[in-house]
Amino acid sequence: MKLTFCGAAHEVTGSCHLLEVNKHKILVDCGMFQGSNFNEGKNHDAFPFKPSEINAVLITHAHLDHVGRLPKLVREGFKGSVFMTKATVELAELVWRDAYHIMQDENEKYGMPILFDNVDIANTVALCQGLDYHDLIEILPGVKAVWRDAGHIFGSAFITITAENKQIIFSGDIGNINEPIVKDTEQLGIAQTLVLESTYGDRLHEGIKTRKGMILDLIKDGVKRGGTIMIPSFSLERTQELLYELNMLVEYDKTLPEVPVFLDSPLAIDAMKVYEKYPEYYDVEAAKLRQSGDDFLAFPRLQLTYTREESKRINQVRGAKIIIAGAGMMNGGRILHHALRYLSDPASTLLLIGYQAQNTLGRKLYEGASKVKIFNEEVKVKCAIKAVGGLSAHGDQKKLLFWVEKAVKKPEQIFCVHGEPHAATELAHRLRDNFNIKTFVPEMGETVEI
Ligand SMILES: [Zn+2]
Repeated sequence: MKLTFCGAAHEVTGSCHLLEVNKHKILVDCGMFQGSNFNEGKNHDAFPFKPSEINAVLITHAHLDHVGRLPKLVREGFKGSVFMTKATVELAELVWRDAYHIMQDENEKYGMPILFDNVDIANTVALCQGLDYHDLIEILPGVKAVWRDAGHIFGSAFITITAENKQIIFSGDIGNINEPIVKDTEQLGIAQTLVLESTYGDRLHEGIKTRKGMILDLIKDGVKRGGTIMIPSFSLERTQELLYELNMLVEYDKTLPEVPVFLDSPLAIDAMKVYEKYPEYYDVEAAKLRQSGDDFLAFPRLQLTYTREESKRINQVRGAKIIIAGAGMMNGGRILHHALRYLSDPASTLLLIGYQAQNTLGRKLYEGASKVKIFNEEVKVKCAIKAVGGLSAHGDQKKLLFWVEKAVKKPEQIFCVHGEPHAATELAHRLRDNFNIKTFVPEMGETVEI
């Protein structure tokens, strides 16, 4: 077996791993690189393999940095099958269509080329095969794979591939502990090799219990100052979890200040329909709420703004208000229109609740930039900038170590990917020191024999 790292090496985006076994070429994930631009230049580079030579693609979950280049792969000649959970097929299609709209916008504004179009998306969807967790699928002669719940986003999985009497597990992204709605990460099974994400490999989150309280305090503070509270949010999972927490604050704790809440994300609104379709993916608490008749993604005062016109009308609402909009790292999407308007308002608040990758606008603001550029306009930053780490859909260092520690049998070697250099290296050292496992932080393009 040969494994080549074609993305998410020393960085958190662009997940793409090439596994060569029995003369088959298999890709695990085919994600977009994300940075200062939604449609980073690197995405347009040629793949380091011939798309037509890939026999199958396995997808861990529907986040753009794991599925975003798949329509490009199809556009450039890939004709094999693509395997993922049923919910992931539906969410991925929404993600591709949303990405296409953003790329179209950027194309009109700045002439940036698009990566794929609606025809490529339709051709990609036609190749996708949805499956259930725990189905053992022979994806190619002599190569079997099984998807288990990663507890990261709806439909997310870590994938075990068995071939040549060896097992390799690709973690995809591993969920935080006690994430709302989704189930906990399943136990790590038996594999000699593990390819492990390390987004928060060097950090610990705030406790789950304090998370809801922190959000409430920050919202209360923002409302007191009378401004707009902007929450850039990943449309898949982060947004639904936030709605779940806000639903609890409104309907059960009754502590959320009475201000309007706008969900200004067509992708998040569409994704909610997929959540409704697969109640078997819910954790115990979410299932109970649903059984009791509570739609945990909706509450009074929540307004869904689907169209551009509805989105623009948010500006006319005076006084304190909360706006939840994508993109989560502020590298595109409707959040930019709100940021352009409110970043310079001292009464307003920017509340960051997810990971902010290097070079993104979200990261620059998180690190204290005093002025930024949005749509080629310079904006002075005068609003309050706040961050809550515990709402991340990624497990922190403790969770990742715990997951490996509690494996049915610990892997012999681990490759730490999907993390910035310090995070990946720190996690690799901890895994080596705690469990005496061989660990590596692979370079982009590196090939290893396993
Ligand atoms: Zn993810």
